[in-house]
Amino acid sequence: MKILKFGGTSVGSAENIKTLLSIVANEKLQSNPVVVLSAMSGVTNLLTDMAEKAERGEDYNNGIKEIENKHFEVIRALLPAASQNPVFTRLKIFFNEIEDLLQSVANLQELSLQTKDQILSYGERCSTFMVSHIATQTIQNAIYVNGAEYIKTDNNFGQAKVNTELTEVLINDFYQTNNSKVLFVTGFISSNSAGRITTLGRGGSDYTAAVWAAALNAEEIQIWTDVNGMMTADPRMVKKAFSLPELSYTEAMELSYFGAKVIYPPTMIPAFMKKIPIVIKNTFQPEFEGTYIKSDAKSSNLPIKGISSIDQISIINLTGSGMVGKAGFSGRLFSLLSREQINVVLITQSSSEHSITFAVKPTDAAHAISFIQKEFELELDAKKLELPEVEGNLAVLAVVGENMKRTPGMSGRLFSALGRNGINVRAIAQGSSEYNISVIIGKDDLSKAVNAVHDAFFTDLKRTLNIFCLGTGNIGKTLFNQLKEQMPFLASNNDLQVKVAGISNTRKMIFNTNGLSLADWESELDTNGEPADLANFVERMKGLNLPNCVFVDNTASEAPIQYYQGIFESSISIVTCNKKGNSADFAQYKSFKNAARKFGVDFYYETNVGAGLPIIRTLKELMMSGDKVARIEAILSGTISYIFNNFKGDAGFYETVKEAQDLGYTEPDPRDDLNGKDFMRKMLILARDAGYPLEASDVKIDNILPEACLNASSVEDFYKELQANAPYFEDLKNKAKNDGKVLRYIGKLEDGKVNISLQMVDDSHPFYMLSGSDNIISFTTNRYKTRPLVVKGPGAGAEVTAAGVFSDIINVGQNH
Ligand code: ADP
Ligand code: ASP
Ligand code: MG
Repeated sequence: MKILKFGGTSVGSAENIKTLLSIVANEKLQSNPVVVLSAMSGVTNLLTDMAEKAERGEDYNNGIKEIENKHFEVIRALLPAASQNPVFTRLKIFFNEIEDLLQSVANLQELSLQTKDQILSYGERCSTFMVSHIATQTIQNAIYVNGAEYIKTDNNFGQAKVNTELTEVLINDFYQTNNSKVLFVTGFISSNSAGRITTLGRGGSDYTAAVWAAALNAEEIQIWTDVNGMMTADPRMVKKAFSLPELSYTEAMELSYFGAKVIYPPTMIPAFMKKIPIVIKNTFQPEFEGTYIKSDAKSSNLPIKGISSIDQISIINLTGSGMVGKAGFSGRLFSLLSREQINVVLITQSSSEHSITFAVKPTDAAHAISFIQKEFELELDAKKLELPEVEGNLAVLAVVGENMKRTPGMSGRLFSALGRNGINVRAIAQGSSEYNISVIIGKDDLSKAVNAVHDAFFTDLKRTLNIFCLGTGNIGKTLFNQLKEQMPFLASNNDLQVKVAGISNTRKMIFNTNGLSLADWESELDTNGEPADLANFVERMKGLNLPNCVFVDNTASEAPIQYYQGIFESSISIVTCNKKGNSADFAQYKSFKNAARKFGVDFYYETNVGAGLPIIRTLKELMMSGDKVARIEAILSGTISYIFNNFKGDAGFYETVKEAQDLGYTEPDPRDDLNGKDFMRKMLILARDAGYPLEASDVKIDNILPEACLNASSVEDFYKELQANAPYFEDLKNKAKNDGKVLRYIGKLEDGKVNISLQMVDDSHPFYMLSGSDNIISFTTNRYKTRPLVVKGPGAGAEVTAAGVFSDIINVGQNH
């Protein structure tokens, strides 16, 4: 015989009740089940709300109407008109009783726990009475059972403790004479020895099912709910949560104790004592096999079973050198709390033993403090104990699983995921069973934390990076195209999912925490975007508090730079092709590096120098492994590279520059390339990365151009001056040629000094053979002494720059 319990949503509508009844009918083909029902979803909350309103003297009548409508709608839908009346009548009597009770509460303006239980009991009584009647049409011998009569408890109203012996006798006696029937039993409600209604605690219908199962030695307890069993996290919070096939009683207990609402924690106790398996099934997907909770649960490869959380918690800190830590103190403290029925969710004690921190529900915090003040009055007066401090607005996150016991590094994984996401941990507790590690964090960080920790433990699933992109010019656009094309590859090869959670250009901005579509982001931004506001874009990005977040700056603008520091401080990584930040003053460069390190996030800017070529990365790796840079030589401007690689033979300088411009290799005014300023910025960043604290003014730039060309008032005049100065350039070219050399405009870092100058190099120099618009850089180091390490290739253009940004983003992903 099985016990089938259906939760609030399963009895929440006519449609769902039909499904429920077909599940019961199906089970009846084997043997008569005992069916335990909850109140219709929302009803217990409504009753609570009305009771509290009545106590405050507020109007509660709308609630009664709402409850009535919910039930009557079902009755009209599922019972033929002729059979409706008896049910209407009975429910009407129930509703009148609720009204009378609320009226007395309102008159006295007092709501005792006892009265509250009485009021709440109607939720289950109404739903169960109604469903049992509807059942009689299709299920033979279906009867209504007021479960309160058979579960006997103490007087702890609101969370009563079951008198197991007496309860088992009563249930057995009743069942003996009724086992030919299908019992529809009210969940949640019970009664004390005087026959007053008590309740088993919110979510307690699950427990009712377990109590009946234990009393009747049932073969199985089925908990029918609205999700696919117990999942690795609350699916409302973690989209990637997946169902668990099996759990031990302890694991289920720990997960539910720390917030996995899908099963009420005490349910596990009677089931465990009698070794009755519990299976959590989905009413809306009956074919789903369910999560089995049993004693011989197979071990799995998962490092943990799940992550659960409680989003409302307060902590109380007790300190005092003269008291805390002394034998007997915690004994006194916790027996006091237990005597006063204050449930302690978690306790930690510092190893110095001078402080104890424990967590309670926020509604218990004030009581706890006043009990402590009374109990320890003498110690407080004598200053052996400090006044207790309460901190609210906190949440508990717990990772749970038996495998943790056997696997080192579990807490490391947990804390690095929290740390990387800038989540401050207020207190930590590890159950001595090692089945659970729990941490207390800020309530606002909870969703981010649960998602980040889920990503960190379930690495078989794709990790998610949430990126916020600034700039939709050539590079931004190309990046989105590349991301779109590479998505499937990233998913299958790198187990990485990149979601574009926000886009802004100078006109519009848009956000979507589920990820914007890369196929039509442009029209989406145009039609649904809000007016752009950079400060607001950054604030919103921070405010969304998503896990594994990256800010991608694809602009060449000064404007975003002022936000970098604050972005790092919010534990968000930055990837940028924008050189403006790193090439302004050294102090700023340094502060970005420090902030990224301090907040445990990444700052990648490979494309600041040579687009996607691995230059910054190579230098970083050389430095990290202890190599010393003796010299760096480089040509880091595609334009200048093109011009000098082609200024040879009969070609004149004017013609070569003009050709470069026609090919689109130059800025609108070619002097912006030829004046060496941009080149200087790149050399400066390299020098800084190589460990030299240089400023822009320390870089010596030799002019390629004669004064007249530089001073020309327009581009047109500039070209005229180039023509006029043809002999000067011819002269340079011929001089080089006569010595068997070529002209190259080279940036050099040596002995901590940077200069950029026009040089003549012979064929022994690695830059001699350079062609097209390629960039080249050579590193001469302790290890690469006789032959330098050379990186060469295309160092400009949207495709290669976007590819560089892309690979920086992926690198951030690898670090998560
Ligand atoms: P019922 O009314 O059927 O008793 P509950 O609302 O009490 O249902 O519990 C089911 C809900 O528990 C789910 O809808 C889900 O949002 C929530 N939940 C929280 N944590 C988990 C988890 N780890 N696995 C599955 N569901 C969870
Ligand atoms: N109806 C009760 C509640 O909402 C009991 C339950 O659903 O299990 O808490
Ligand atoms: Mg429940």
